[in-house]
Amino acid sequence: MLGKMMYQPLLLSGLIEHAAQYHGDTAVLSKEVDGTVTHSDWLTVSNNAKRMANGLAALGLKPADRIATLAWNNRRHLEAWYAISGSGMICHTINPRLFPEQLSYIVNDADDQALLFDITFLPLIMAIKDSLKGIKYFICLGARDDKVVAQLPETLFFDELLEQSAAEFDWPQFDETTASSLCYTSGTTGNPKGILYTHRSSVLHAIALCMPDVSALSAQDVLLPVVPMFHVNAWGTPYAAALTGCSLILPGPNLDGDSLVSLIDDYKVTVALGVPTIWQSLLAAAKNRGSKLDSMTRTIVGGAACPPSVIKTFREDFNCDAIHGWGMTETSPLGTMNQIKAKHKSLSDSEVNRVRESQGRPPYGIQIRLMDTENPEQVVAEDGHSQGNLQARGHWVISDYFTENPEAVTEDGWFDTGDIATIDADGYMNIRDRAKDLIKSGGEWISSVELENIAVEHPQVKMAAAIAAKHARWGERPVLIVVKEQGSSVEEAQILEFYNGRVASWQIPDKVIFVDNIVLNGAGKMVKNDLRREYGNVLLDS
Ligand code: AMP
Repeated sequence: MLGKMMYQPLLLSGLIEHAAQYHGDTAVLSKEVDGTVTHSDWLTVSNNAKRMANGLAALGLKPADRIATLAWNNRRHLEAWYAISGSGMICHTINPRLFPEQLSYIVNDADDQALLFDITFLPLIMAIKDSLKGIKYFICLGARDDKVVAQLPETLFFDELLEQSAAEFDWPQFDETTASSLCYTSGTTGNPKGILYTHRSSVLHAIALCMPDVSALSAQDVLLPVVPMFHVNAWGTPYAAALTGCSLILPGPNLDGDSLVSLIDDYKVTVALGVPTIWQSLLAAAKNRGSKLDSMTRTIVGGAACPPSVIKTFREDFNCDAIHGWGMTETSPLGTMNQIKAKHKSLSDSEVNRVRESQGRPPYGIQIRLMDTENPEQVVAEDGHSQGNLQARGHWVISDYFTENPEAVTEDGWFDTGDIATIDADGYMNIRDRAKDLIKSGGEWISSVELENIAVEHPQVKMAAAIAAKHARWGERPVLIVVKEQGSSVEEAQILEFYNGRVASWQIPDKVIFVDNIVLNGAGKMVKNDLRREYGNVLLDS
């Protein structure tokens, strides 16, 4: 027997409707590409999204069409998002830092019909324009600009489209499993693969993100998503923000530590989200400027392993909770989040700190398990030290890829993440490494993450990457690539000494290589493939 309750499809348009109706005057601030700050609110975002939905329809764009965006986190991008997905089209956010060939590959693979872009990316578009097959409209996110027209005469302008479009629009109602947005993985090996989210998965993900044991987002918060909207939909924050009616600060293109400290202090940000490298530069800038980041109650750190030293500094020096989370493009991305349980309250500070270092436990909606690396049918014990291949399933986990080799799950319905992890009896998961980043020395595994976390604890180390270098006797040995703090004269021996007592002696890297810079990808993660290519033979050569 079916129950007798109303059924309403879970649609993204419902989120912006809610924000407009109940939080219409709550601020949505946006740093624009020209450096100015626009003050808007949820009602205006909603009204503009409706106008833009009319504007896109008037161009002949229709439900299921893929509409690409190449843009920073800003207000027009947000309005375009709701206009596109809300009217049944699919919002395809593109990472502008991909190689140009990858960029045109994914635009063509997605069969994008229109491309909305920030003016910053015009040179990029001009470079690949001839290889883009299906794009009918180029829409610049701004007012008319003669410089843009001079280069790309067919460009339409977002602000003009808004002015020309009718205000009245009713969000269409459709099946909640309709596709809402599309993100491609960064494709470090092979072609990037598309992940096609549904309205249902995105709304459920947004609800989960707000739960007290996840980010505890509420209408009292001022949220700063530093994570770009092209990195897994800014981890779902633009949806969660509308759902709670919190205030939203969109940081635009400048994500350096100084710019972020200014935004946090000027607009009293209470919660921010981003990858560890962002927080490392933010902490340095805040210390430099003497800011205590007073308004910040918590920061959500994920996307790469967060060094325990970063968590500790946030807590001890800035009275701010640093909450470690794990996720992937394929998991929308929320997979686990580190919030303690009641039983942890009686622990000492240092014991609680240790609990908080892991990537945390799954919220309702996600399950995780470990499978044996040698015997893939065998489930690994959740005892906190046995490691295995991490698999996930849940309401916002991929079922199939968008195109090429669509198969994404095991026969019994789990997604294999490619991460190696441990899980303890309380469900807390610890990522040991990406399977391909683990270092196998004489048949024993060494976690590159653990070596990197220790290195960045050293006061004179700014960034560090541990990679597997080929070794004649041991197969592989760890080599540490280090960027020193400015002005530091630290030497190899001092860094290697720092490992004494922190890891077993056979896990200490064989060599330290100092470099000026480690390249980060569009999501702010270290590009280890390049490092392996460059330094993978360094122990053989010597
Ligand atoms: P992406 O889909 O590009 O966001 O990358 C997902 C991958 O990032 C995961 O499979 C992990 O290897 C890594 N990752 C994400 N969050 C964390 C974390 N908190 N600690 C360690 N690795 C992480």
